[in-house]
Amino acid sequence: MEYAHKPAQSAQTSPTPRPPRPPRLDWAAIAPAIAQLRRQGCSNRETARRLGLNIKTLEAHLRRHRLRNALPMDRPDQVRRTCLNCDTAFVADGRFLRLCPDCRAMFS
Ligand SMILES: [Zn+2]
Repeated sequence: MEYAHKPAQSAQTSPTPRPPRPPRLDWAAIAPAIAQLRRQGCSNRETARRLGLNIKTLEAHLRRHRLRNALPMDRPDQVRRTCLNCDTAFVADGRFLRLCPDCRAMFS
């Protein structure tokens, strides 16, 4: 019953209020800086703070792009792997390869 009293015309007269959106980020430009800070051991929070990014924005970006864009795969038989020895993400030439090229070189 209550909502029958709602003024119907308000939706038409006022323009749709839009929350201010943050400017689109140029991730291609930001990514190297992120990678560098992370190599220096910065946490996501610290990385976001130094780059003036929202932590949520950064985390969402990392989730979306971490493995999808980090390493190019140019053959269908290649598999994304995390090295068993050093936890580095790498692209393996076959599904049975479990060590990154660096570690393979070290062990062979
Ligand atoms: Zn490794």
